[in-house]
Amino acid sequence: MKRFLHVKNVPKLYCANVDSFKYSKTVPTHELLTRLNYISHPKAGLVNWLPAGLSSMNKISNVVRKRMNEIDFEELGLSLISHNSSWKKTGRWETGLEFFKLDGKEYLLVPTAEEEITNHVASHLTSYKNLPLLYYQINPKFRNEKRPRSGLLRGKEFIMKDAYSFDIDEKSAMTTYNNVIGAYTRIFQDLRLPFTKAAADTGEIGGSLSHEWHYLHETGEDTVFSCDNCGSVSNVEKTLSFPVEETEVADVSVTYFMTKDKSTLVCAYYPKDRELQPNFVKNEVPDLNVHITDQELILAEFSDPDTLISKKIIRIMDARLNSRSNFPDFPISFINRSLITTLSDIPIVSAEEFEICGECEDGKLHGNRAIEIGHTFYLGDKYSKPLGCSVEVPVGNKTERKDLMMGCYGIGVSRIIASIGEINKDDKGLNWPRIVAPWEVTVVEAGNGNKEFEEVYRYLNQAGLDYRADNRPKVGLGKKINQSNLMGIPITVILGKKFPIIELEIRGKKYGDSWKQVYESRDFEWEVEYENGQDIKHFVHKDGLSRALEGLLEDM
Ligand SMILES: [Zn+2]
Repeated sequence: MKRFLHVKNVPKLYCANVDSFKYSKTVPTHELLTRLNYISHPKAGLVNWLPAGLSSMNKISNVVRKRMNEIDFEELGLSLISHNSSWKKTGRWETGLEFFKLDGKEYLLVPTAEEEITNHVASHLTSYKNLPLLYYQINPKFRNEKRPRSGLLRGKEFIMKDAYSFDIDEKSAMTTYNNVIGAYTRIFQDLRLPFTKAAADTGEIGGSLSHEWHYLHETGEDTVFSCDNCGSVSNVEKTLSFPVEETEVADVSVTYFMTKDKSTLVCAYYPKDRELQPNFVKNEVPDLNVHITDQELILAEFSDPDTLISKKIIRIMDARLNSRSNFPDFPISFINRSLITTLSDIPIVSAEEFEICGECEDGKLHGNRAIEIGHTFYLGDKYSKPLGCSVEVPVGNKTERKDLMMGCYGIGVSRIIASIGEINKDDKGLNWPRIVAPWEVTVVEAGNGNKEFEEVYRYLNQAGLDYRADNRPKVGLGKKINQSNLMGIPITVILGKKFPIIELEIRGKKYGDSWKQVYESRDFEWEVEYENGQDIKHFVHKDGLSRALEGLLEDM
């Protein structure tokens, strides 16, 4: 009886749109991914994941899963639709300008899941002995991006790994936070993605400790500064800086803020040609409401001479200003000067290249464009308190109800594909590390349908190798090899006239040399062709094919 042979083929629409396409390294990565049918965009900001793209995405997800499972996080899947009640309790319903609020505004498509996961824990946790509770999910998130871009960096929908931790106290929450930092380091190393971990502002999510994980690239929309003296790395919203030397600032801008209780007017003065960072102002006045920015509305609160006596005014002068600077007129004429406090030499604008580091006040800052690929936050009780997520804890011979201490941790899975694609692109096209490639080996045949070749597919199936056969009729051998290279597949296996000797063409970047051990201990025919010291072709007897492939892929 003949055994059934299943050959894994390339996707049906593999390279269907590339015939008229002239590749050059300057083609943007998202355009390349679209052209090669990894993804498609039905509308700006929306993404369809096609077979090759979904395969790469699943591989990244599996790396994330493995590393999160290793630190005892449990995977779950929360609903992608959330009711507004908990978002109102945490105060995020009104401030979430980019929320996808559904018809009737009672529900939203989830942008993140702090509210839902906190509700889950609040209603299911029965004993402090079950802590910590550690969860993650990998699924779509939504953001009503008003100016969506093509590609995977700024869309209305994206795939995210979001994780949440619930601990009994801050000490244990810090242990969890550090475990996640370890897992993130391993994830980005596994993905061969060079990364920078930067101290970050906690922004809308809140909490007190936060890091952004970036990879540095000129196409990035974020800026990360590093100091050449103390080594601190932070994003632009967190980088405090001082001018190199006293500079003459001619024109001064002012932006007004007020405190949440509307009792204090805060006037932030800074050089006209620089960008104000409102959160630096908030560092000085913690009660500041950075969401109210309407200048007229703010000044109107301080326009009545009768109530002004009960109010305060704080002037904050950026470190680049001095008394010779040209300040705008003060908007309130009837002011009693005893109401005014002035703070000077405070850095409140975005840092610039080569300014002095605000951390050590010694080194110079160096800026790099970067793409954010992950974010970690210590949240404390910011969500557990309003949502009543607490547990009875024994204290002496009594018990006490304590709010749980939370953390949240994101990784932009769909962004990572774009990032890895971008950094590994070369003059032949994409070039994936093995762990992200949609498949690891493309098999092409010179002269289709040679019965002897069936044996090769049996070997590959038995060895569990991640191959796809390109048996498209009427497509020439050379074109098949070029297209596999353009797709970024690490190795092409060519079955031809020399069979049972099989040609392997190496495309993938080598991160090691461990294949040489397999080569030295071979008991089958195996020749290697080098170019500029690189092994570019291998000629291997069919009996050793799967061992040679496994050895070579190990380094990719
Ligand atoms: Zn420094």
